[in-house]
Amino acid sequence: MLDLEAGLALVEEHASVLGPRRVRVAEALGRRLMVAVIADVDSPPWDRAMMDGFALRAADAQPSGRDGTGGVLELEVVADLAAGDQSRMVIRPGACARIMTGAPLPAGTDSVVPIECAVDDTAAAHAGASVRLLDARFRPGQHVGLQGCAFRRGAEVLPAGTRMGPAAIGLAAEAGAVHVVVAPRPRVAILSTGSELVSPDSVPGFGQTRNSNGPMLVAAVSALGAEPIPLGMVVDRPEPLRAQVAMGLAADVLVLSGGVSAGDLDLVPDTFRRCGVEKVFHKVRLKPGKPVWFGVLRRAGGATTLVFGLPGNPASSLVCFELFVRPAVRRLQGRPRNEWHLPRVRARLAAAAKGAEDRPVYSPCRLQKGPDGLIAIPLPWTGSSDMVGLAVADGLIALPAGVRRAEEGSDVEVVLLHE
Ligand code: AMP
Ligand code: MG
Repeated sequence: MLDLEAGLALVEEHASVLGPRRVRVAEALGRRLMVAVIADVDSPPWDRAMMDGFALRAADAQPSGRDGTGGVLELEVVADLAAGDQSRMVIRPGACARIMTGAPLPAGTDSVVPIECAVDDTAAAHAGASVRLLDARFRPGQHVGLQGCAFRRGAEVLPAGTRMGPAAIGLAAEAGAVHVVVAPRPRVAILSTGSELVSPDSVPGFGQTRNSNGPMLVAAVSALGAEPIPLGMVVDRPEPLRAQVAMGLAADVLVLSGGVSAGDLDLVPDTFRRCGVEKVFHKVRLKPGKPVWFGVLRRAGGATTLVFGLPGNPASSLVCFELFVRPAVRRLQGRPRNEWHLPRVRARLAAAAKGAEDRPVYSPCRLQKGPDGLIAIPLPWTGSSDMVGLAVADGLIALPAGVRRAEEGSDVEVVLLHE
């Protein structure tokens, strides 16, 4: 049987980064940009009114108040301009245009005076009337979005490596990117095997077990930013199993649960072999998760499918997912090596934890900040089918092989379950 470290090294060795994907901007949410976005326009693309008001030349306003305040400025309104208007008119000195937010500033003007500054009921003045503007100390450029003040055409507005959130998607759209090149999103097929399995939305009869691994593993894949392909459940019979496995083998990764131990109906290893999957290892010194199976299928055209057979017991399945499947998916995604595995920290045990002579043991715990470092509080755990503690755990206490029991107060390694 393999040591855990040797198993992990084999997984890393067989996973290689997928090529980048070109996707429509709207589909890039949550993905990492691989190629910078270069703007094909200035932003704003032309001098733009940023308020509803009157476009004028600031120099036309003469401060007239004795105390240095601006007086009232009367100007003839010669045009009405709204967002979307494509008028290229020129405003002569001493005149102004009524202008709405989002309209291009007409030639001959350099500032916008908000509608609120109009007095004597002239706020409603349209072309042909006059407007009287109060406190006429106008600054050139006021309430104008100057062409290119946000970015220039040709500028790199989103560097490679940007995580595409809603704002980045908006900016890419404004900069003219119809498609963007993003990190690959591995497709991960998930198949639950076992004749005892029933859907989680039904009440299990005698001898039946709800397929809880299905939704759990789909969630685990989604949490990694990969694309889950749920293949549902399949019975322990060679032909249906082979057919479902064959479907899953079209994905970048196949994660199957159940049927990998040594029982009479543990048909999975043989099914993998019949489907052309090369076994890399079967069984690792680990608790929970000893029966884990890993192999690769070399598909026509050079692509590879990584194939994981996880033990059916849910806690084993999840621990094996986090230890083995996670680094494979991270590698496929092109993440740097320091992001492949869950982080590990040191903590002091708040109570004794059980280990094993022959293999490392990973058991659920909560973490708390103590006066001098982290404290790990072991959670009740009855074994590889028990998810109660895991569901609220912050981490897994990792006791190396040979440590049968770690006493309260001892310093242990904890795998953080959240990045
Ligand atoms: P196996 O690995 O197939 O020997 O299954 C080990 C244990 O895990 C058995 O008690 C199964 O009923 C249980 N099990 C297998 N698959 C699932 C699943 N998808 N959801 C919940 N429990 C499962
Ligand atoms: Mg089974």
